[in-house]
Amino acid sequence: MPATSALAYTADIAEATRPIYERVKRVIPAVEWPFHAPLVHEINRLKRERNAVILAHNYQTPEIFHGVADIVGDSLALAAKATQTDADVIVLAGVHFMAETAKLLNPAKTVLIPDTGAGCSLAESITAADVRLLRERYPGVPVVAYVNTSAEVKAEVDICCTSGNAVEVVESLGTPRVIMLPDEYLAKYVATQTSVEIIAWKGHCEVHERFTGDEIREFRGRFDELVVIAHPECPPDVLEAADFVGSTARMVDFVADRRPPRVLMVTECSMSDNVAAASPETEFVRPCNLCPHMKKITLANILESLRTLEPQVSIAPEVAERARRSVERMLAVKPR
Ligand code: SF4
Repeated sequence: MPATSALAYTADIAEATRPIYERVKRVIPAVEWPFHAPLVHEINRLKRERNAVILAHNYQTPEIFHGVADIVGDSLALAAKATQTDADVIVLAGVHFMAETAKLLNPAKTVLIPDTGAGCSLAESITAADVRLLRERYPGVPVVAYVNTSAEVKAEVDICCTSGNAVEVVESLGTPRVIMLPDEYLAKYVATQTSVEIIAWKGHCEVHERFTGDEIREFRGRFDELVVIAHPECPPDVLEAADFVGSTARMVDFVADRRPPRVLMVTECSMSDNVAAASPETEFVRPCNLCPHMKKITLANILESLRTLEPQVSIAPEVAERARRSVERMLAVKPR
């Protein structure tokens, strides 16, 4: 029986979900809420029954991000907060490498990913065998892996990083050269922020690589007083055209602290929606590039996952132990 059968938008559910709708009304039209509300209500009930938490990435849609998530954030925040939960079950509303990271840090817990096909073009751009070849080619040079990699790749590297701590991680190694993989553009951006020589892999995020510097200049021509903030996974000409470059979390903080009247967030489209829902005084200009992998996670498959406790993430123990070490080393690096 489909997970959504027998769920109806009743007066009781409308009343119970009213505070949640108040938070998302700027980005979800009223006509759509009756479709989301019964699922939101049932997921929140079932979470309590299962002693489960939902970790949601910033690129999840607002009905997930604001409606059912217990912990939200970028890859770094989700990895760090995943170590602090007392829940028996973790549902990862994000992509597969994030669910693997949650499992690495919580080996005794049940970790669910509602759609196992939620991948990532960066994670798929490199294998463990590629890392072993790089080590042969550059003997003695430490390897830093962006968290957007599989557990098998994490097991082969010295330490992980996210876009939020990449410079600190690279400098923590104390070597004149490091290999940074798999995101070429993040590696190039980090190279502009440190004197450490960076050897880059040529993986790209299929969402951020679509933005261009010309597109940013065109938006500036159309909108007065436009503040452009860009994610470091974007190509270098986009970063040069931006006013601020920062990780997902730093972009959120930028809007919260500076409250610009009009902002262009050069990143995945749902993130602008989620920040816009909490920033009524800022107008968001949206060049909408959606991540097709993040969008595989829906309220319906989250509910199905909680009902069936499937699909579960599992990692071979010999891989998990080495991959966990790479993630834990990253978490021990102090932010600047
Ligand atoms: S937005 Fe890019 S980096 Fe993030 S999951 Fe999608 S493809 Fe991967």
